[in-house]
Amino acid sequence: MTDVEKRPSRAPVPSGWEYAPAPEARDIVHIDERYGLYVGGEWLEAKEHYTTISPSSEEPLAEIAQAGPEEVATAVAAAREAAENGWAEISPSERAKYLFRIARILQERSREFAVLESLNGGKPIRESRDVDLPLAAAHFFYYAGWADKLEYAFPNRRPRPVGVAGQIIPWNFPLLMLAWKIAPALAAGNTVVLKPAETTPLTALLFCDVVRQAELPSGVVNIVTGDGRTGAELVRSEVDKIAFTGSTEVGKAIQRELAGTGKRLTLELGGKAANIIFDDCALDQAIEGIVNGIYFNQGHVCCAGSRLLVQESIYEQAVAKLKRRLKTLRVGDPLDKNTDVGAINSKQQLEKIRELVEAGEAEGAEIYQPPCRLPENGYWFAPTVFTNVAQSYRIAQEEIFGPVLSVLTFRTPEEAIEKANNTPYGLSAGVWTEKGSRILWMAGRLRAGVIWANTYNRFDPSSPFGGYKESGFGREGGRHGLEPYLEFE
Ligand code: NAD
Repeated sequence: MTDVEKRPSRAPVPSGWEYAPAPEARDIVHIDERYGLYVGGEWLEAKEHYTTISPSSEEPLAEIAQAGPEEVATAVAAAREAAENGWAEISPSERAKYLFRIARILQERSREFAVLESLNGGKPIRESRDVDLPLAAAHFFYYAGWADKLEYAFPNRRPRPVGVAGQIIPWNFPLLMLAWKIAPALAAGNTVVLKPAETTPLTALLFCDVVRQAELPSGVVNIVTGDGRTGAELVRSEVDKIAFTGSTEVGKAIQRELAGTGKRLTLELGGKAANIIFDDCALDQAIEGIVNGIYFNQGHVCCAGSRLLVQESIYEQAVAKLKRRLKTLRVGDPLDKNTDVGAINSKQQLEKIRELVEAGEAEGAEIYQPPCRLPENGYWFAPTVFTNVAQSYRIAQEEIFGPVLSVLTFRTPEEAIEKANNTPYGLSAGVWTEKGSRILWMAGRLRAGVIWANTYNRFDPSSPFGGYKESGFGREGGRHGLEPYLEFE
């Protein structure tokens, strides 16, 4: 026996795998007590304010301006002035330089942005640090590359900017949605007035500092904060185009409002995606894909894989593995680097999730939640799986926008297609199988704008994203993402 083998002391086998708390420091972030509106490169005082909080603790963070009709009109006028007197005339390669600059500043300040995003929105720092921030910077890098190549992107079509774009975004990916909106608009030579969601305005307001640092000409980017009333004012204002990401209900109202006005419109709305698992898939990988598909960002994801379709032959095995995996998810402080599932974004959203979960139980579905201690303050919901779900149940039809998965089964690929498409939405879908031919067969039949194969929730700025049916129209990302911001001859 060697000395090593004889050595008696062995590291004790831990009975549990508890991690020590690993909170990210907050002191990198400076939050003002009160914010105005960023208009024409300056801070404009607003008449009305409201308080934005941290959803994980309900701690008030800052006073935020509620922009009214006059303030929205001032912001649109500033954007118009910048559009007509400068930005569109700046050479495309100069425009590209500004976008590259913004991208690099976002990279440099990414920790600050990630902490603020998690603080104001409740998402785990691991996600804001490793997903939201890198993707937001990548979007600016990507569209910077297009700014001086529009003639090549759309040959013989003489692309020119639309003018002033009004942009309205939701609270689930605040900075990333801002990047999806602002980067292509600026690359195409437009100016913008952007309204962040009322619960998550802070990273958009910090972005104003990036704009200043990048020395972007004043008025090219304007940020107005406020709730739906401010959004409605922006829709009614003298903009040339509205780009909206949010709920189907509000999207429909905007479409009605804009009908006949000649203003251009793109809508990125809700979803109820099917994540389809065939019996020949790599099941352990699929389980990771299912978890990522629905518990990423607390399920506050428009393309979340909220309906799991499992082939009957592996149903029991898949559900058992999924439940076992759920027990390892860590729910808690968004600023803790070990957290997998953070806080629900708002009280209102928590109530909506609770209502739909109660409906699921009342309709007869079987609920499973792993044992987990939820913090006392703030808004929380345990990761949830429903089995025994019928297609007619509300939890199989309506977008829950929370960490709640509905499991259904199928026998044949045809049945999977039928069930997957049986929804008013058509944003995304996932297919898990080892057969490439089956993936292509499924992809040709699924009515969804984005289809992932053997993976889920993967994003890349060069890949267009958008929906069918009640998930909206228009594409963001890729060369397609430039089109809504351009006029052609
Ligand atoms: P929401 O529609 O309530 O709000 C979205 C934005 O619209 C907010 O900024 C809000 O202030 C504003 N708004 C509200 N009423 C308005 C009105 N009458 N006129 C103009 N603007 C108005 O949606 P939400 O609850 O904040 O976001 C969640 C929804 O967004 C989900 O349905 C989700 O699927 C969808 N979403 C879609 C995508 C996508 O790319 N398809 C991405 C993220 C979120």
